[in-house]
Amino acid sequence: MNKETHSNSRMGRLKRPQAPEPRAGRLSAEERLPVETIGPDEASMNMVGAVIEELQVAEEELRAQNEELATARQSIEAERERYKDLFEFAPDGYVVTDAAGIIREANRAASAMLNIPQHWLLGKPFALYLTGAERKTFRAHLSQVQGDKRIREWELHLNPHGRPPLSVALKVAMAQALPGTAIQLRWLLRDITLRKQAEEEWKRLNDQFRLLLESTGEGVYGIDLQGRCTFINKAGATTLGYRPEELYGKLMHQVHHHSRLDGSPYPAEASPIYNSFRSGRACQVDNEIFWRRDGNSFPVHYSTYPIIDGGVIKGAVVTFTDITERKRAEEASARLAAIVGSSDDAIIDKTLDGIVVSWNRGAERIFGYSAEEIIGKPVTVLIPPGRADEEPEIIERLKQGERVEHYETVRRRKDGREIHVSLTISPIKDARGQIIGASRIARDITEHKQAEEEIRRANQELAAVNAELETFSYSVSHDLRAPLRAMRGFAQALLEDYANRLDSVAKDYAQRIVKAARRMDTLMQDLLAYSRLSNADLHPQPVSLSAIVAEAQAQLKEDLQERKAQLTVEEPLPQVVGHPAILVQVVANLLANAAKFVAPRVLPQVRVWAEKRGQRTRLWVEDNGIGIKSEHQGRIFRVFERLHGIETYQGTGIGLAIVRKGIERMGGFVGVESEPGRGSRFWIELP
Ligand code: ADP
Repeated sequence: MNKETHSNSRMGRLKRPQAPEPRAGRLSAEERLPVETIGPDEASMNMVGAVIEELQVAEEELRAQNEELATARQSIEAERERYKDLFEFAPDGYVVTDAAGIIREANRAASAMLNIPQHWLLGKPFALYLTGAERKTFRAHLSQVQGDKRIREWELHLNPHGRPPLSVALKVAMAQALPGTAIQLRWLLRDITLRKQAEEEWKRLNDQFRLLLESTGEGVYGIDLQGRCTFINKAGATTLGYRPEELYGKLMHQVHHHSRLDGSPYPAEASPIYNSFRSGRACQVDNEIFWRRDGNSFPVHYSTYPIIDGGVIKGAVVTFTDITERKRAEEASARLAAIVGSSDDAIIDKTLDGIVVSWNRGAERIFGYSAEEIIGKPVTVLIPPGRADEEPEIIERLKQGERVEHYETVRRRKDGREIHVSLTISPIKDARGQIIGASRIARDITEHKQAEEEIRRANQELAAVNAELETFSYSVSHDLRAPLRAMRGFAQALLEDYANRLDSVAKDYAQRIVKAARRMDTLMQDLLAYSRLSNADLHPQPVSLSAIVAEAQAQLKEDLQERKAQLTVEEPLPQVVGHPAILVQVVANLLANAAKFVAPRVLPQVRVWAEKRGQRTRLWVEDNGIGIKSEHQGRIFRVFERLHGIETYQGTGIGLAIVRKGIERMGGFVGVESEPGRGSRFWIELP
């Protein structure tokens, strides 16, 4: 505060005396008395009296004025003190400099900010306490403020002693007490560290928020009250087929929401998005579509919220996701539900504690309970007494993640009747792969079981009949061979001993008897071999296929030589588990057929090799023969099935039947691949 100015104005308000300037101080009674006594005439005496009177009044007034002045001075002093205190203890820093920027006054806050005692600051250039880079700006402001006298404000960094730079807002104003007097610059320093921190925090949050918006898979956009895009994240723009900057300011309804699925126009006013900023209502929708830039649409789930600022709706924010996959999954599960619903099998869903969660119509039909009756109940109501251990055992297996397949057991219907069921129980896992329950499919196999029982009984009977038949055919073939040998022997004897007595016709007959008898003998031998296969005790053992093939080849040596057959065996052949003698017989039959069934004048070429098929071994016998039509390939493995007359190719029709029966008895399979005219490949497969 300017003391002089203040005092002057205070003086101006004092009442000035009308009379001439009196002497200071009050007149005593002695001083007044002689004036009354020395006056020569009464008029002048009266005048003197009046003057004295006036002087007294003036003196009184002067005294009052003096008192008033003293009081004014006191209050000015108090005010000055108050302002000084205000200046001194103000929370902001105050610095007063001269026109050159030399510090003339600095308050405590300024001293604290600069970490320099107040008296040290006096006489120093203010620029000394700014960071180097900012001194130039400071000087510019210093001269500008003196030029246009406008208050200036800017942010800079103070350089406190021994401390890191401090962010401050600096305000400068010029003051000049009276024209011609020295210029003063008053600087206000406000510590804005906290504000800066808050600003940075706000920026960080803002960046984080942006990042969050950008990294979410959902589309997010904002619109103003006209429905124009104010922001959109990358995911949202990409889903719609745009870059974000292409959408700013666009009417979003026109961009992606203009038509309905059937192509009919979708007025903006009908859209829930429009509603949310018109009526302030939030809304979630998942039965609509959005359109992409390329003209394709996608099913969408979107939420729309009004943006309310200070109680006023400013627009809306929309978040959306393409739910094509979800819709597909929903459709798939609806289809699945329909299948489950219409299945004849019981499909039951239960918790790991065995509580029924779902129960389809098949289950109602098979077990007699309705869904309402049984959902929430333990599945054990279906278990008949005596089978109580089954369920814990099944649950234990499920907990291990195992699937229980075709578990045949007995269950009890609501009416108490016991039925045979085949259960397939699979663990149900949640998204994290944890087992949370089990689905079980129960098939009523009561009828099947009964049929099976009947078949088993029929099979038993059949086996008994077969055994009888085989014993019979064995003994028949065995016993018939003796009279046959006799017939052949005697016919032979006729030819040898009575040759000269027989005419050519008789000889021909006798030769035919011999031939027929020989053929019948071969037939019976083959039949015997075949029936022996049924009764033979098989003790499968590891055998070398190389040895088997070599033995079969040795047995057929003459036959093969006669036919000029070329046999190639791709050694080494692996081991299999089987019965050696039967295997030799099987392989010999295949090799004999391969060499036999060739077209006239064709030299047989037979190739034998083996391959591994999982745990099994397959032995192939391939020829360059006449081949077999596919429709005949099944029946040639049956007894007496032949595709040719005896005149064309000799044989009994039992060879392949022996191959099949022998291999099946060893737990294997047989088969053929062939085409007429292109040779055949027979195979046997053994463990
Ligand atoms: P057989 O050889 O005694 O006639 P099989 O039981 O061994 O009796 O064979 C049955 C029939 O299968 C044969 O008659 C023949 O028609 C046909 N067949 C068997 N092996 C071959 C082969 N390698 N090529 C063509 N046909 C064959």
